[in-house]
Amino acid sequence: MLDVKKIRNDFPALHQEVHGRDLVYFDNAATSMKPAEVIDTLREVYSKRNSNVHRGIHYLSMRMTEEYEAARRRVMRFINASSEREIIFTGGTTASINTIAYSFGEEFIKSGDEIIVSAMEHHSNLVPWQLIARRKGAKLRVIPMNDRGELLIQSLDELISDKTRIIAVNHVSNALGTINPVKEIITKAHDRDIPVLVDGAQAIPHGNVDVQELDCDFYAFSGHKVYGPNGIGVLYGKEEWLEKLPPWQGGGDMVKRVSYEETSYADLPLKFEAGTANYPGAIALATALDYISSLGIANIAAYEKELLDYANHRLGEIGGLKIYGEAENKISIISFQLEGIHESDAGMVLDKMGIALRTGTHCAEPVMTAFGIKGILRASMVFYNNMEEIDRLADALKKLKQMFG
Ligand code: PMP
Repeated sequence: MLDVKKIRNDFPALHQEVHGRDLVYFDNAATSMKPAEVIDTLREVYSKRNSNVHRGIHYLSMRMTEEYEAARRRVMRFINASSEREIIFTGGTTASINTIAYSFGEEFIKSGDEIIVSAMEHHSNLVPWQLIARRKGAKLRVIPMNDRGELLIQSLDELISDKTRIIAVNHVSNALGTINPVKEIITKAHDRDIPVLVDGAQAIPHGNVDVQELDCDFYAFSGHKVYGPNGIGVLYGKEEWLEKLPPWQGGGDMVKRVSYEETSYADLPLKFEAGTANYPGAIALATALDYISSLGIANIAAYEKELLDYANHRLGEIGGLKIYGEAENKISIISFQLEGIHESDAGMVLDKMGIALRTGTHCAEPVMTAFGIKGILRASMVFYNNMEEIDRLADALKKLKQMFG
């Protein structure tokens, strides 16, 4: 359903040689390439329309403010939030999660309380909770996973207690590709009046996300992983929660009245947007979301499933290749190791063959520890990748095995 050949022409960075070979870019989970429309949007904002938002009464500033607020509404529609007051622009997923960990933690977490995370969190959805837990004398509890990389969510029945204050869980694991049953987790949590933060960094690019349908309390994602620019991200929060939380950072734009004695905060969403906004990033992010909407999220998901099936088939032919993360429900990520070959050596040789994939712990060291390994190779594929590139990876891996004997 997708015209991949045509789509590839929208992404200038895909068309380059690396070490004399046509680039195969399989590091999309780390960051995605950008369509020309997104790059052009940034260029146009800076070259023709630039002016700071929410500050000036002059023409350019007012027009840019309107564009920035329109970008917020475009994001709101993309994730089906019920109000633009629930969309906060941040620097990325990490910033979004830290905002809630700090703000929620300061207000609602006290000594002896518990925070639940899962066994497959990116460090960005683990360390901020450890920081607040340490400050407040709270404890982390962890939803375990099985050896296929699937969360054992029935264990939540025992993990959740009167001490549980919040559950923070990823929608899709960056290390294993697992799509987690966040809706079920949220239902279980809400049965006990516990809010849930969902780290959606790896979910947003691959499938439809409807925050009202999920009924999550907070949802975080980054622009750069969803074909948008770096340095911009989104924090969705239910209005009722955001109203109750104190601001995280102080500064311009997040205040109503300021005096030495007393300061009142701006209404949502600006209460959480201290300092000059990244308005070019926000507008270009909205362009990226419109771009993938125009391809059709369902079409993207269907095609990426074909890529995953084909990659499983081709990599499955290679003896001594072990795949980590074999969940029933997963996105187009294959993490693996080659018997007897260190992942860094393999990654370097593949790079010489023009193939970019990620090696190491993937910012999810506890996941590696759970599997008793130090690191893995990860091929993360998206809608602009094709079957020929998977063939190139499979052939390269066969060659690599011969080289290393
Ligand atoms: N969570 C997950 C699941 C991720 O994959 C990533 C990025 N690898 C992050 C959080 C952090 O995203 P960022 O670095 O853009 O803030």
